This record gives sequence, structure tokens and C-alpha cells, in this order.
Amino acid sequence: MRFHVLTLFPDMIRQGCDNSILKRAMEKGLVEVCPEDIRDHTTEKHGKVDDYTYGGGAGMLMQAQPVYDAWQHVCGDKKLRTIYVTPQGSLFSQELAKEFAKEEELVILCGHYEGIDERALDEIGAERISIGDYVLTGGELPAMVMIDAISRLIPGVLGSDESAETESLEGDLLEYPQYSRPEVWHGKSVPAVLLSGDHAKIREWRTKESEKRTKKVRPDLYEKYKRRQDLIKLLMKQKKENAYMIDCLMRDTAEVICADGAQVLARDKKTDNWMICCDDLEAGEKLLSLVPKDCKRLIHNFAPLNEKIKEVLGLEVGDECFQSVYTQKNLMPIAHKDIRPYPMEALEYAAANYGTNSGPYIADRIKAGEFFAAYDGDKIAGFCGVHAGGSLGLLYVDPTYRRTSIGSSLASYLVNLALERGGFPYAHIRISNEASVKMQEKMGLYVGKRTIFWTYRKDF
Ligand code: SAM
Repeated sequence: MRFHVLTLFPDMIRQGCDNSILKRAMEKGLVEVCPEDIRDHTTEKHGKVDDYTYGGGAGMLMQAQPVYDAWQHVCGDKKLRTIYVTPQGSLFSQELAKEFAKEEELVILCGHYEGIDERALDEIGAERISIGDYVLTGGELPAMVMIDAISRLIPGVLGSDESAETESLEGDLLEYPQYSRPEVWHGKSVPAVLLSGDHAKIREWRTKESEKRTKKVRPDLYEKYKRRQDLIKLLMKQKKENAYMIDCLMRDTAEVICADGAQVLARDKKTDNWMICCDDLEAGEKLLSLVPKDCKRLIHNFAPLNEKIKEVLGLEVGDECFQSVYTQKNLMPIAHKDIRPYPMEALEYAAANYGTNSGPYIADRIKAGEFFAAYDGDKIAGFCGVHAGGSLGLLYVDPTYRRTSIGSSLASYLVNLALERGGFPYAHIRISNEASVKMQEKMGLYVGKRTIFWTYRKDF
């Protein structure tokens, strides 16, 4: 990802990025930070970029001309998302960091002195973002804060992708207390559960500690968390029917639009998939009326709603699937141990074997770090992946390795991954795929009888 930073102090940006994780990310080519000196773009012969404000008042203001010309120089004919960091903006958050991390290029405009002439800001159409309710002398530190928070969400920037997912604020909880060696320090011992090796117990302890801490320090966040947990509990009463919604709620990617008991409409912020869980036509129609008319994909679990969806939104059933769920908290045993992230160089093999036109989608999954290979020495014996919507699948076993433990190991690997990420392991199995239903049942997953429907716009 490339950050262009428009600033009067480019060295501050250069020095700020020249350390630790950001420096490594830049060396690996994952992140590029390009400071652009606004002063280089002034037409004033003495290099002046600021002047007094009309109407009087203390302080100088950055003038429109150099700011606007610097921005145009950086954008060229590209339309780049541009942020003006200002105490007058919307508050920066982990959620916004995730949204910005999807961009390939981002322009950050730093003010100084009293700020920037309003006309330049209007012409640029910059989004205004503040990093907190206090006033700094310039926008360089806010720009650095944003670059840092966004960069660490880019796959490959952190040593292990998992560490970005278990931090504070993920799932509306602050992180649990952590300990390192020695086991006893100043007479204080590390909590015994952390030394037990029992991963299910450790996860449970960590969740409880996170809840306790959040409730005490951030009651506002805790309230949000609690509301989500209550809804999950309700939907869990029919887990095989509601798995897709439960998983999104657990991973906190679901924006709940309307929840009337267990009749729920939500949108997956990650994929823009709309989701309905319901078992009553009247309630379903009410939820449907809240879905935007340009919705491209809607997943639901109530067959009588299909006709209405076609009539109201013009979406038609593309796939009808069973849902399989893993309901235990324990990790599954994995017989075949050598499973690793799938290499992009072997994309052709996966695309050729998974199905027509699957190449771009699989490339996207590899890039997201969500596609895995089982190896036999150097040879790829099979692969699997997590779909963009969170369901487990994309499973393929090379003919040489069928009827070995490779298939079930790949599937168990995905189940464990979902558990470790705090999600709900589930898969969608097309109703015609009896072999897959049998394999999953044999592995101890439950396959629901009620099907779910993926509805799409026909031309999509
Ligand atoms: N006169 C401005 C106002 O009252 O809103 C404050 C200007 S401030 C002294 C100078 C620059 O620092 C701003 O233009 C902005 O780029 C940056 N800045 C200061 N505080 C900030 C914050 N909390 N978040 C983002 N940027 C900030």
C-alpha cells in the first residue's frame, strides 16, 4: 500500500517510518511512504506557503495554492482517496483503519499553524479525520499514527497475521493481561491456566479477563459487546440454521441493521453480503424492506422468502447449500502436520483443479493469507481455504492422496483456525455434494437439514 503524505516537514515522516515494523514493511515492499513537500509547490518566489487569515485573529494559515498544487502533483490523473488530518474531523478508529487498509493508495494532508485555507480543502474534497480530542501543532504525528495503525493490518506486515486479530478493540474487547518469563517475578506468579497447555481453557480465561477489563475501563465498549453476545446466544439456539450470521457476529464483521428476537437483518462489512435469519414470512418481508435496492448478494435461510426477494430486489437463487457446523470448543486433531500458507507461485495448480474461473478468487484468498496447502515433501498434496464470507472450504485433494488423511487434515486445519480466531467454524455444502456431507459428518461436524440460499443479481 502506498501513502502519500503532503507536509511541510517531510523529514518528520521519513524519520518516523525508519524504525522497527514499519521500516521492515517498507523494505519488504508491502508499504511505501512517500512524503511530498508542499513548499516545493509554492509559486511565491521566497518559498512562502502561509499568510494571515482574513478577518483577523492570531496565527498564520497555509495558503490554498501550494497545497492544491502539491495534491494535484501527487494524484496526477488518478482519483485518490484523500484525508485531511484535523481536530475537526471524525474520530479515527480501528474500524476506519480497517477500511483504509483496503485502499491501494491513500493521500494524507497535514496542516500546520492555524490549518489550511478552506477553499483548497473543498476543492480537494478531503475527508476530515481527527486522532483525538486535543490539538497538536501539526498533522505529521496524526499522519504517522494513521500510517502505523493501517499498515499493521496489511497481510505480511506483522510477523504473524494472528497478532492483528487478537489485539485490543477486536470484537469490542480490550486485550487480556499477558505474561512472559520468568514464571515468578517479585513474588507474583503467572496465572496457572496459562501454563496448563489446555488451549480451550486458556481461550476461556482470556475471554473472561478481557470482559472484566473492558467492563471496568470502557463500559461503552462493553455494552456494545454484550448486545452482540446476547444476539449470538439467541441465534445459537438454531446454530445449524444461523451459522453464517453467528460467525460474522462472533468475528465482529456484522453490522446489525435490525434484530427483532431471532429475526435478524445484518450486513457483512467485509464482503458487503447482506444476511437474513428468519422463520416467519411477515418478519422476513419486513426485514427485506430494509435492504437497499442495489444489494448484490443476500444470504438467507427461509425458503418462502425467495419469491419475495426476486420481486423486491431482483435477486435470484444461485446456490442452495446445507450448513455444517463444529460445535465443540476443543481443537480437532490433525493427522497430517505439514500444512502451510499456499504459495502464489503455485496458483495455476489450484485454479486448474478447483474449477473454471476460480483463479482470481483463489489469488485473492492467497493474498489475504486465507489459502493453505498440505505438503508431501515439496509436493502439494491438497489445498483448502477460508471463503471471503468466513465459511470454510475450497477443499481439494490431489488424486494420488485421496483416501489418505490429507482431506480430513485440511478440513480440521480450517476448523482449528476458525476457533483460534474466535469465530464459529462452519461450511456451506451445495445440496448436490453428498460426498462432502458424508466426510464432514464423519469428522464430527453437524450438517443441518434446513438449507440456506445464496441469492444474486443475475448479471453479477
Ligand atoms: N485551528 C485548527 C482548529 O482549531 O481546528 C487547529 C490547527 S492545529 C494547531 C494545526 C494542524 O495540526 C491541523 O491543521 C491538523 O492538520 C493538525 N492537528 C492538530 N490536532 C489534530 C488532531 N487532534 N487530529 C488530527 N490532526 C490534528
